[in-house]
Amino acid sequence: MIVVIGGGPSGMMAAIELKKKGKDVTLIERAERLGGVLPQCIHNGFGLHYFGLELTGPEFSEMLEEKIYELGVDVQLNSMVVDVTKEREVIVAGEGGYKRLTPDAVVFAVGAREKPRGAVGIPGKRLPGEYVAGQAQYMTNIQGFKIGTSALIVGSGDIGLIMARRLKLEGVDVKAVIEIMPYAGGISRNINQCLRDFDIPLLTSYGVKTIQGDNRVKEVVVAKVDENGEFIEGTDYTYNVDTVLFSVGLLPEVELLKKAEIPILESTRGPIVDQYFSTPIPGFYAVGNGAAIFDLVDNAVKSSMVVSKAIDRGYKPHGKFIPILPGKDVRVLIPQRINMDYFDEPFTLYVRVAKPSVGAKVIIHDQNKTVFKRTYPALRPAEMVEIEITPSMLEEIKGEIKVEVE
Ligand SMILES: Cc1cc2nc3c(=O)[nH]c(=O)nc-3n(C[C@H](O)[C@H](O)[C@H](O)COP(=O)(O)OP(=O)(O)OC[C@H]3O[C@@H](n4cnc5c(N)ncnc54)[C@H](O)[C@@H]3O)c2cc1C
Repeated sequence: MIVVIGGGPSGMMAAIELKKKGKDVTLIERAERLGGVLPQCIHNGFGLHYFGLELTGPEFSEMLEEKIYELGVDVQLNSMVVDVTKEREVIVAGEGGYKRLTPDAVVFAVGAREKPRGAVGIPGKRLPGEYVAGQAQYMTNIQGFKIGTSALIVGSGDIGLIMARRLKLEGVDVKAVIEIMPYAGGISRNINQCLRDFDIPLLTSYGVKTIQGDNRVKEVVVAKVDENGEFIEGTDYTYNVDTVLFSVGLLPEVELLKKAEIPILESTRGPIVDQYFSTPIPGFYAVGNGAAIFDLVDNAVKSSMVVSKAIDRGYKPHGKFIPILPGKDVRVLIPQRINMDYFDEPFTLYVRVAKPSVGAKVIIHDQNKTVFKRTYPALRPAEMVEIEITPSMLEEIKGEIKVEVE
């Protein structure tokens, strides 16, 4: 029996692919419905790569959900996995009380959580009217609340950009999106379609100094920052708003993985995974945003397809591993190691660069040999570079390999 934890798109895809291969799968979801984040993402832009269609989040989710029920996957809703041990004991708290499962493999498809205000170090206490962007999205799109009348978006991640447009459409006066980095955090499509098309200004190299108010947010003071992130004197500007949204990044949800003693990486803040999305602990896999933050749902679900193949072939994370290390201007790599004993088919290496560049090269090499070199018209941290790594590329590689931007 295989347990998939999390009924978002990645968990659903893992369950579908495993069931198609004849496996006995149980899909466990803590919410009362499947879909993960997707039901609240009512904008389009999902599934362009995977289905070749421009779907909304709910449409993408429903296409997977239909397949789940058509195949007869065992789905347990309103059921939360509260503990997982290294020995593969899975404890589920559900409607009938606690349950103990002992599967042959566990797929963590637990998604991500949003970084809160505390992650950006703004002094003072949190006031009513402050939200993380995904929470604001849930309240607007699922619960039907109007969350404010005038808003400032802090951080230009994709969720913030999507919510800037969404609030504007709801009649909220969206003053601006401010971003502490000298470049936007979200993908170009969202900058064009959510900000430019709706005349919402984007201020880069700006940070929040204070958020003030009594019973609710009343004003937000922002200022320009220098290259060290320090506020530049005389650049203060005050926005009179009753709502602030934070879109300052996502982190893989790793609490359960830590309980199973799965090693967590500093760079991705997710588990160490190899080309089969297997963690170093046999029988434990991590997919989607629970493995690392993917740029698109299409890539998140691809990771689940890889895992189902690995489980089907009886994969074991034993043998000779080659580490893949981030070099100059590379922030995130997925996977972070290759099991050479099972390297008999190509896999996709996902690279998130550290800063934007035009006409730069991505290079993969070991101490002696360059195995990949390609020039990209534009590289942006928000958009992952996908590189196909084939066994023949690494034939003579002995030690570790490094990925760099030149
Ligand atoms: C606001 C927003 C806008 C986006 N816009 C786009 C876009 O335009 N295009 C695009 O391609 N992608 C977009 N994405 C990204 C996309 O939503 C994600 O890639 C995708 O949802 C990741 O799927 P997942 O299954 O890994 O995680 P999730 O969707 O987060 O699902 C994780 C699931 O695991 C469940 N879970 C967690 N812990 C437990 C537990 N202990 N027990 C049981 N269940 C548990 C959760 O309840 C949840 O249902 C957007 C994301 C957000 C937040």
